[in-house]
Amino acid sequence: MQTPAPVDYARAHSIEEALDLLEKYGGEARVIAGGHSLIPMMRLRIAQPECVIDINDLTDLDYVRIDAGDLAIGAMTRHKTVLASPVIGEHYAILHDAERVIADPIVRNRGTVGGSLCQADPAEDLSAVLSALRAAAIIRSTNGSRIVPVRELDDGPYQTVLTDTEILTEVRIPIRPGAGSAYEKVERRTGDWAVAAVGAYLVLDGDTVRDVGIGMAALGVEHGCPVEAEEYLRGRAFTAAAVEEAARLAAAASNPSPDQRGPVTYKRHLADELTRRALRRAADRAQGRI
Ligand SMILES: Cc1cc2nc3c(=O)[nH]c(=O)nc-3n(C[C@H](O)[C@H](O)[C@H](O)COP(=O)(O)OP(=O)(O)OC[C@H]3O[C@@H](n4cnc5c(N)ncnc54)[C@H](O)[C@@H]3O)c2cc1C
Repeated sequence: MQTPAPVDYARAHSIEEALDLLEKYGGEARVIAGGHSLIPMMRLRIAQPECVIDINDLTDLDYVRIDAGDLAIGAMTRHKTVLASPVIGEHYAILHDAERVIADPIVRNRGTVGGSLCQADPAEDLSAVLSALRAAAIIRSTNGSRIVPVRELDDGPYQTVLTDTEILTEVRIPIRPGAGSAYEKVERRTGDWAVAAVGAYLVLDGDTVRDVGIGMAALGVEHGCPVEAEEYLRGRAFTAAAVEEAARLAAAASNPSPDQRGPVTYKRHLADELTRRALRRAADRAQGRI
């Protein structure tokens, strides 16, 4: 890999300063958080910003807290913090499932929630999880803030709906009492990107599905979520046959690419199988069986 092209460096000490710097460079700057994706992109000359704006001093964006009935996670929260957070484990075990299989401790020590979402890698795990959970992304610019569902954050591979002068500051997940959730990933070796992965949450009322969300990574599903499968399950009895049909619908919604991680038929098979497993484990957790 080459070294990056010459680039200016600025260190922001507040969100306002970071936003002003983005405005100043008029679309030719990129913020850098953990740097685990941006620096390789710069070394490959896929990204060639005029300036990198370091946002690692924005420690006020590094938090996990309950706020107005939501689980709120700051954009500068590191993977390791998400993995270690008891409050996250209490409400959404799916986040711990996913964090355990994201890369390795070195990447998890530096990589951030905001960087992961903004990188918009089609195989990225947290996007699938937060899409399943119907999380909201809070985005700021010098003009104020806006809220975008995480499901609508990606605008194609490696692209988001953020403009060049916006910063993602927080993700918010509604807390759903009694929800169970789980993430299932197949990787070629420990710490690798997903061959395929599926996350799900369920709220059950007895055997009836009151609420459900499903998110998929590396499977080419539009906006990462097989909505037909979700709609099929909502309001239906959670039976083995219903899980089977939902998994079939999820696999049908997938459109994976053949690559070094496997052919299309194998990935479609994983879409089906991992959806079943994620739904079953989410139900077991919702019903207190595990
Ligand atoms: C060896 C390796 C293995 C990995 N394996 C996995 C894996 O299995 N699963 C997985 O999901 N991920 C994996 N990753 C990615 C990892 O999770 C990174 O942490 C993540 O891609 C980027 O986070 P970052 O904080 O390093 O972002 P950076 O590299 O700093 O930034 C990435 C992009 O997001 C932008 N950005 C960063 N923060 C913000 C913000 N707050 N607002 C707006 N834009 C922002 C940057 O400008 C840049 O364009 C792996 C990475 C490596 C190096």
